[in-house]
Amino acid sequence: MSAVTTLRGEPVRRRGPALDVAVVGGGMVGAATALALARAGFATALVEAREPAAWSPDDELDLRVVGLAPSSIALLDMLDVWTSIRDARSGPYARMHVWDAASGAAIDFDAADEGRDLLGHIVENSLVQWRLWQALEASGVRRICPAQVQGYEVQEDRVQLALSGAEADTLSSRLLVAADGADSPLRTLAGIGTRGRDYAQRGVVAHVATERPHEGTAWQRFLDTGPLALLPLADGRSSIVWSLPEHEAQRVMALDDRTFLDELGVASDFRLGRIIGATRRAAFPLRLQLAANYQAERLVLLGDAAHAVHPLAGQGVNLGLRDVAELRDVLLAARAAGQDIAAPHVLRRYTRRRRSADTLDALGFDALARIYGWRAAPLVAARGLGVRLLDRLAPIKHRLAAHAAGR
Ligand SMILES: Cc1cc2nc3c(=O)[nH]c(=O)nc-3n(C[C@H](O)[C@H](O)[C@H](O)COP(=O)(O)OP(=O)(O)OC[C@H]3O[C@@H](n4cnc5c(N)ncnc54)[C@H](O)[C@@H]3O)c2cc1C
Repeated sequence: MSAVTTLRGEPVRRRGPALDVAVVGGGMVGAATALALARAGFATALVEAREPAAWSPDDELDLRVVGLAPSSIALLDMLDVWTSIRDARSGPYARMHVWDAASGAAIDFDAADEGRDLLGHIVENSLVQWRLWQALEASGVRRICPAQVQGYEVQEDRVQLALSGAEADTLSSRLLVAADGADSPLRTLAGIGTRGRDYAQRGVVAHVATERPHEGTAWQRFLDTGPLALLPLADGRSSIVWSLPEHEAQRVMALDDRTFLDELGVASDFRLGRIIGATRRAAFPLRLQLAANYQAERLVLLGDAAHAVHPLAGQGVNLGLRDVAELRDVLLAARAAGQDIAAPHVLRRYTRRRRSADTLDALGFDALARIYGWRAAPLVAARGLGVRLLDRLAPIKHRLAAHAAGR
């Protein structure tokens, strides 16, 4: 039995039979985990601090959107929520055009070259989360919300959670799943450190109307200040993620609307013509953060709690949803073999598979961010040459596209 781990330093009482799994954090990754495990027959609870707002088609599009890769769509489809997300509001895209402001070199990805109809869909975070929460209701998941985890204690065959803000102040389960985001309190309580770096950048996001249609294409221009992405939305507008150094992001956030539209037009090289309208703006700090381990005693990390990556590859939640699929498979195999689902060797299977895959991806995105940060003329020329070459090397492009799709 391990040492008591509580924030309040109080002993946690042992009560009643334990659930199989308690998931902490009901964002897209945590909600998908709870649903996937409940559907697989595990007695599951979900603890979330903030009640998600009901999504409505009459509401303005959520400023936070993600590009869902085919692997994520397949998982959501298996959970029977994809069709209702797609039909509610989603921006399918079949092409991606990435170009370098300094060298002019470009690379194109086309779903048709991969034998597919689409590369992915741009969807609102709030819509995905809401549809998952609606499905949780019918799946028997015990939702404890609003409630916050204050601490936990590992006992012989279970974990005892101390909660605040809930009707019950304790909850026990065999396995604790931390899907509580990049600042994961559970990761801290478990004593798991992180490594990585602060990009000293912010991603400025907004939805913009452009003079020309987005053509169902995800556009990304690499500038010496960072990448600017224009992602195709369902209603014909584009969602921008404009990665900028901290001070530049502050300046851009403070611009009046007219100047913002003009500067964005220049930054996008007027690829979609002039920018003719924009919603309010928001800015998110960007960092690379990898947990030193994905497991502790009777606990695993998933999603941003385990890894936060630069948005330039649009893969953050896609990695998280791959964690979900892997954890489900590992727990199912353990149960079929009659093993304790939280035994260290069982959790190690999940950790080994996901941590190496996530680390490779995260460091790959980081390398891209560094390469596109080169400013010296010979390096810019070498980068241009490399990108042009890559664009002509069909087998490597196929492998990159298959990897981004989660294959
Ligand atoms: C600008 C920007 C653009 C991005 N674009 C993309 C993209 O195109 N494609 C992509 O795949 N990803 C993208 N991402 C990343 C993506 O948004 C994240 O990877 C994803 O939202 C992480 O989901 P999560 O469920 O792991 O964490 P979160 O969404 O952070 O959810 C964590 C949840 O845990 C809850 N919680 C925290 N602590 C507690 C506690 N103690 N008790 C109870 N509940 C708690 C929180 O309330 C929250 O609901 C982008 C990110 C940024 C910043």
